[in-house]
Amino acid sequence: MIEWSEEDLMIRDAVRGWIDAEVRPSLDALESGELPPYDLLRSLYKTFGMDEMARSSFHARLAREREGGPADAEGSGDDRPGGGNAAMSMLPIIELCKVAPGLVSAMGVGLGLAAGTIMKRGTPEQKERWALPLLTMEKVGAWAITEPNSGSDAFGGMQATARRDGDEYVINGGKTFITNGPYADTIVFYCKLDDGAAPRDREILTFVLDRGMPGLEQSKPLRKMGLHSSPTGELFLDDVRAGADRLLASGSQGGRESARQNFVTERAGVAAMALGVIEECLKLSVEYAKTRELWGQRIGDFQLIQLKLAKMEVARLNVQNLVFRHIEMQRAGRAPTLAEASAMKLYAAQAASEVAQEAVQLFGGNGYMSEYRVEQLARDAKSFQIYAGTDEIQVTHIARDLLSR
Ligand SMILES: Cc1cc2nc3c(=O)[nH]c(=O)nc-3n(C[C@H](O)[C@H](O)[C@H](O)COP(=O)(O)OP(=O)(O)OC[C@H]3O[C@@H](n4cnc5c(N)ncnc54)[C@H](O)[C@@H]3O)c2cc1C
Repeated sequence: MIEWSEEDLMIRDAVRGWIDAEVRPSLDALESGELPPYDLLRSLYKTFGMDEMARSSFHARLAREREGGPADAEGSGDDRPGGGNAAMSMLPIIELCKVAPGLVSAMGVGLGLAAGTIMKRGTPEQKERWALPLLTMEKVGAWAITEPNSGSDAFGGMQATARRDGDEYVINGGKTFITNGPYADTIVFYCKLDDGAAPRDREILTFVLDRGMPGLEQSKPLRKMGLHSSPTGELFLDDVRAGADRLLASGSQGGRESARQNFVTERAGVAAMALGVIEECLKLSVEYAKTRELWGQRIGDFQLIQLKLAKMEVARLNVQNLVFRHIEMQRAGRAPTLAEASAMKLYAAQAASEVAQEAVQLFGGNGYMSEYRVEQLARDAKSFQIYAGTDEIQVTHIARDLLSR
C-alpha cells in the first residue's frame, strides 16, 4: 500500500465532513471539559453505521466461537468495528486527531482496551453482558491498571487486591490516570490475588465492575496539560464485592500476558493518532508560512522555516509508512510483535510531539495562542509519549527483543 484508495478517500472525506459539522463547533466545550465526549462519539457511530457493524460482527464472532472456530477471523486482535477493514478503522482515528486527539483516547480505551479485554478473555455470557454495549458505544468503558505507586512497573508494584470470601471476591485499592474513569459504566479492573504469596509474585486477576457497585467511587476528571476531550480520573475501591461471574479468565499465560496483548493494539493505534496530529500541524504550518509576511517577504522564504517544514514532511512520510505497513499486516492476518508495536509507538509519538512543538514555534506568538490551534495539538501530542507506556518503556521493550535474538 503506497496511498489511500479512492474508496478510502471517500470515507475520509465523509468523516472529515462530519468532524467539521459536529466536532469543530464543540471544540471549546470539549476543551473546557463542559462537554464530555461520549454523545459526540455515539453520533459518529450512528452516522457511519459503526454501531450496527459492531453489533453484527459481534454476533458473527460469537457464533463462530460457539461452533468452536477461531474467535478472531482477521487475526488482527482488533475488536474495533472496521477491524476487518483496516482503512475504516484507521481513517476516523487520523481525522479525529487533527482536531481533538482526546476523542480517540476516550473511544480507544472503551473499545480497544475495555471491550477488547472482555472479548479476548470473557465467556460468551460476559461478552454479551459487558462487551457488546461497549462495542456499540451505548456504554462507556475504562481499563484500569495504573496506580499511584505503579505505572511503568504496573504489575510489580500493583497494590490493589482481591481476597476470596466464599463464592465472592472482596476488592480493595485505588487506580489513577484512568481514561473515562469519571464516566465509565463498565470498568475492567486489574488487581492481585491476596493469597499470602510474596506481593510481586501474586497472580493478576481481572474483574469487570459496574458503575454504582457499593464501595466503588469514581472521581471527577483530573486537571491535566492537554487531551481535555478525554476525561481522566481516579478510582477508589473499598471492600467492593464481586462474584466469580465478574472474573475474566486468566488464559494460559495469565492476566499479565493479556494486558501485554492490549499494549500491542494500543501502541499501533498511537501511530495513527500521531499521523493525524502531524498532518494537521504540517497543513497549518504551510498555510501560515505562505501568508505571514515579515521584512517584505513571506516567512516560508526563510531557510530556517523551510527546514522546519521539511522535517515535518519527513516525519509525515515516515509515520504514514508505519501506518500503511500496519494496515498491510492486518490485511495479511498478522499482528505486530510487542517490540514492533513499541518501535512504531516510540517513533510516532516523538515525531508528533516534535512536529507540534515546531509548529508552535513557526507560528511565533500566534502559536502560543489557542486560536491558532497548534498549541492544543502540542499539548495533546505530549501525552502520546507517556500513556500506553512511556518512551523509556518502549525503549526497554525494543532493546529486550533485540538482545534476546
Ligand atoms: C492522559 C493519560 C491517560 C492514561 N490512561 C490510562 C488508562 O486508561 N488506564 C491505565 O491503567 N493507565 C492510564 N494512564 C497511565 C499511564 O499508562 C502511565 O502514566 C504510564 O504508564 C507511566 O506511569 P507513571 O505515570 O507511573 O510514571 P512512572 O512509571 O513513575 O515513570 C516516571 C519516569 O521514569 C521512567 N521510567 C520508568 N521505568 C523506567 C525504566 N525501567 N528505565 C528508564 N526509565 C524508566 C518513565 O519513563 C518516566 O519518565 C494514562 C496516563 C495519561 C497521562
